[in-house]
Amino acid sequence: MSDNFDLFRTSEEHDMLRDAVRSLAEAKIAPFAAEVDEQGRFPQEARDALEANDLHAVHVPEAFGGAGADALSTVIVIEEVARVCASSSLIPAVNKLGSLPVQLSGSEELKAKYLGALARGEGMFSYCLSEPEAGSDAAGMKTRAVRDGDFWVLDGVKRWITNAGVSEFYTVMAVTDPDKRSKGISAFVVEKGDEGVSFGAPEKKLGIKGSPTREVYFDNVRIPADRMIGAEGTGFATAMRTLDHTRVTIAAQAIGIAQGALDYAKGYVKERKQFGKAIAEFQGIQFMLADMAMKLEAARQLTYAAAAKSERSDADLTFFGAAAKCYASDAAMEITTDAVQLLGGYGYTRDYPVERMMRDAKITQIYEGTNQVQRIVMARNLP
Ligand SMILES: Cc1cc2nc3c(=O)[nH]c(=O)nc-3n(C[C@H](O)[C@H](O)[C@H](O)COP(=O)(O)OP(=O)(O)OC[C@H]3O[C@@H](n4cnc5c(N)ncnc54)[C@H](O)[C@@H]3O)c2cc1C
Repeated sequence: MSDNFDLFRTSEEHDMLRDAVRSLAEAKIAPFAAEVDEQGRFPQEARDALEANDLHAVHVPEAFGGAGADALSTVIVIEEVARVCASSSLIPAVNKLGSLPVQLSGSEELKAKYLGALARGEGMFSYCLSEPEAGSDAAGMKTRAVRDGDFWVLDGVKRWITNAGVSEFYTVMAVTDPDKRSKGISAFVVEKGDEGVSFGAPEKKLGIKGSPTREVYFDNVRIPADRMIGAEGTGFATAMRTLDHTRVTIAAQAIGIAQGALDYAKGYVKERKQFGKAIAEFQGIQFMLADMAMKLEAARQLTYAAAAKSERSDADLTFFGAAAKCYASDAAMEITTDAVQLLGGYGYTRDYPVERMMRDAKITQIYEGTNQVQRIVMARNLP
């Protein structure tokens, strides 16, 4: 068997992990998915179930008390949770996004303190890069950090922060030298309880309604200097390196949502009868299902290849992370839209889960860089 082939298959352990997460997700997360969406409430049941089974942040290395799972295992956890509830899948996904800057660039002390707390379930982690006026052009951020003796003082506003208010820990990118643009940005760990931290009202969103998205305000927030992640001026590079890895997890979320929609539609067409037979017997329906499964499998293979590259930190990860996220999210949008189509009028109602899945899929084309931005990243890093 060639190394290349190995890249695209899962091991027995990965298959066992998938089975375990699928059972847990179906028993403890799926029953609340519609209610969480309808009420726009945080999926606490999912958080409890994931934390109780040590699945909330599987990427944290064993040295810091975590499960020490590889990148593909993290993908499988997120995929299986997203298959039943996209909002809940943002618990493991954003725990990785928020904490990876510490894991990649933090001091040993920062890692021990914050990765340890995350692994023990003492608090979730969020990632604060975007601002009201700095989205795709994230380096145009205005949030400032000014040195004051043994402290840094942060002032500014971050926007669209996933799980803000629920998370205890925040990786915050802030300008420490305004003359140097991206090289004048540094990263810090800020805690929810730090004086001067507050949160805006939850955004009213199209989908992922169970995952709170809020503004985070920093008003004269004084934090010890050792909360800086890595050296001064390296925060933007750390933020971008983080996204190389975590775009793979957004791809995982997309394929999970798409799998949920395909599974539901596959069952429905066998039950629904028109013209005296199950609609699954019409070739027009069979061709739609074949295309959905084909796109999904292509997206999954690209995502798993990207996960292998993330695990090894390969030089071409930047291209693969962007490609997997872009391809899988576009595929998820098409597949979930087709799932609604396969259910006809019923698909358009909240009595069936596919309309929620279609709304949830949309965000995967937008966050961690829009798919236009992914194409810019790919074009700059062509293999
Ligand atoms: C639900 C949700 C959760 C989020 N979670 C987080 C989070 O946890 N942490 C965080 O930091 N951010 C988060 N974000 C922010 C997200 O990453 C940004 O919304 C995204 O990067 C786009 O920025 P923007 O919304 O300002 O859009 P803009 O940058 O204003 O883009 C508007 C449009 O212009 C296009 N565009 C912009 N520049 C170019 C270009 N050069 N070429 C071609 N097209 C271009 C975009 O693709 C888009 O279609 C979240 C967003 C949402 C909606």
